[in-house]
Amino acid sequence: MGGPLRVGAIVKYATEEQRERYLMPVVRGERACCFSITEEDAGSDVRRMTTTATPDGDTYVLNGKKVFSSAAPFADFAIVVARMAGTEEAYSAFLVDLDTPGCTVLDGEVPMSGQQMEGDLVFEDCRIPAANLLGEIGQGLRIGIGRITLNRLLHCPSLIGAARRAWDLSVQYAMNRVVFGQPLLAHQAIHHKIAEMATEIYAARAMVMTTAAKADRGDNVSVEANMCKLFTSEASFRVADQAVQIHGKAGLTRGHEVEQIFRSLRMFRIVTGTTEIHKNAIAKGLI
Ligand SMILES: Cc1cc2nc3c(=O)[nH]c(=O)nc-3n(C[C@H](O)[C@H](O)[C@H](O)COP(=O)(O)OP(=O)(O)OC[C@H]3O[C@@H](n4cnc5c(N)ncnc54)[C@H](O)[C@@H]3O)c2cc1C
Repeated sequence: MGGPLRVGAIVKYATEEQRERYLMPVVRGERACCFSITEEDAGSDVRRMTTTATPDGDTYVLNGKKVFSSAAPFADFAIVVARMAGTEEAYSAFLVDLDTPGCTVLDGEVPMSGQQMEGDLVFEDCRIPAANLLGEIGQGLRIGIGRITLNRLLHCPSLIGAARRAWDLSVQYAMNRVVFGQPLLAHQAIHHKIAEMATEIYAARAMVMTTAAKADRGDNVSVEANMCKLFTSEASFRVADQAVQIHGKAGLTRGHEVEQIFRSLRMFRIVTGTTEIHKNAIAKGLI
């Protein structure tokens, strides 16, 4: 969560110095980075953010609080989107070393998956060099949302992998679990579930491979990336739900792998943009 996935889409906005000092070390796995746009009262509606950046000589002074930044507890720096002080609609993106005086990283809430890797960032008169402005003043949302859009596509393979694992576990379980004198897998209703799950996985994979190939060619995939994340997160969650159903009480037991996958996949209908926001973005991009 703190690796190359975080920086690929922003390389084009970075200066030579920013590339060498911040982005390439992440690509090489030497530094970790988090991305911080969400605030307590500004999630889907990011324009409600209240964290401000005030120009002061050759620095910017940040004040405010970001929440739910994945990888913050172990990141070296953050890409922070803040409102330019005194403006209604000008947002900018900054590279912020997390050991800068005035910047505190707090443990975030523990999400449903139980795997806590989120943190909150508090900025109290946190002064950063003007050279750490990413792109231009006012480009912050374009940079942030462009990064999230590509990220939406790049999360999909992990979701498909988790769904595949749930499918494999379900087939194994259904072969070995005996009910009414036969393996569970001998029942046609279970065949149908296994077939539906495999079909959802195949469809998601086909969409993601097609879109990734377009992205590799340099095409704009903003609509398709939202379609991929929308379909893949919903489909892989349906697969996980069927896997829990096939496993019966075992699938509901805390610590069972299928139960863990179910909780993790549930999060991705919200994380990196909710299902509803993907639909808004797809319609906006098409109409
Ligand atoms: C585990 C985890 C990791 C995260 N990692 C990061 C991170 O690294 N960096 C970061 O900045 N943020 C991160 N987030 C925040 C995440 O991106 C937000 O939670 C998400 O954008 C939704 O915002 P919200 O939770 O405030 O919900 P809200 O925006 O309050 O939405 C609540 C509900 O209302 C719906 N809704 C909102 N607007 C509309 C609309 N116009 N039409 C229809 N329905 C709507 C939503 O779809 C949702 O169902 C993370 C969150 C979690 C849980």
